[in-house]
Amino acid sequence: RVKESGKNDCLLYSDSWSNSSFERLTLQHEMYRAIQRNEFILHYQPQYDLVTGSMVGVEALVRWKHPVKGMIPPGSFIPLAEESGMIVQIGDWVLEEACRQNKAWQDAGLPHIPVSVNLSIRQFVQNDLASKVASVLHKTGLEPKYLDLEITESMTMDVSHVSRCLLDLTEMGVGISVDDFGTGYSSFHYLKNFPIDRLKIDRSFVRDIQQDPSDAEIVAAIIAMAHNLNIQVIAEGVETEEQMEFLRKHNCDEMQGYFWSPPVTSENIEQMLAAS
Ligand code: C2E
Ligand code: MG
Ligand code: MG
Ligand code: MG
Repeated sequence: RVKESGKNDCLLYSDSWSNSSFERLTLQHEMYRAIQRNEFILHYQPQYDLVTGSMVGVEALVRWKHPVKGMIPPGSFIPLAEESGMIVQIGDWVLEEACRQNKAWQDAGLPHIPVSVNLSIRQFVQNDLASKVASVLHKTGLEPKYLDLEITESMTMDVSHVSRCLLDLTEMGVGISVDDFGTGYSSFHYLKNFPIDRLKIDRSFVRDIQQDPSDAEIVAAIIAMAHNLNIQVIAEGVETEEQMEFLRKHNCDEMQGYFWSPPVTSENIEQMLAAS
């Protein structure tokens, strides 16, 4: 079996050799070919204004259409892609595809809304992110205000470098959101040091709003604090009407979740935009 796996010599020396690490290496190997073979696709999840109920944005979420294993969710390959560095190439593809698709919707006469793209911290480390984004916008013809970049909290980052990149992006007119707010290492540090337009309350807080009074307090406090800092708030993972009512009562700006729509194909978004 080791031989079959090809060049992965490290397998031989690993103490934790196991079926699952074998599978990880196989997946990593296959990932290199997946871009050329066009195996990645984007689904999009609508985001809604909590006051008007209208669709005000979409988040692009990558999936891997594996020729044998079928549709692989991002949670099963993004961490591997981050480990191997492949996330940079995958992230480049996601960024360009999301911008291209959004421009195509606009060119088809549909309402203009921003598309949100998830960034991995490695995309800041390895290259000049702001000029890459600028060239993708130029190439696709999408205006910067219709792109939003989602960043997550990470312990291993160079704060002044990331801050510089984000300032360049903000000056271009691209939106910046903090994803999974409340789950990372330094949420408040982000708000203090980075030019943030929006924060996304992590779905773990939203989930228990009804059952857990402290989660309800935390969500209400996050919304109030963000608004005092002139930052918009979107809640993730909204699944019930009660959760939505709570968020509305506490002046949350937007929501995203299965209650209104799971991530869907670009064709579905097109129909939803046409009907809105
Ligand atoms: P995320 O950015 O926090 O995205 C939200 C995730 O929550 C999505 O899972 C979405 O399908 C799911 N979700 C949305 N509404 C609900 C709900 O009401 N209930 C529940 N239980 N789940 C909901 P998905 O698509 O599997 O993505 C998982 C994570 O993978 C994303 O979390 C993001 O961190 C990462 N990811 C996805 N696409 C990309 C990408 O292009 N680049 C990078 N770097 N990461 C990505
Ligand atoms: Mg996200
Ligand atoms: Mg999130
Ligand atoms: Mg999340």
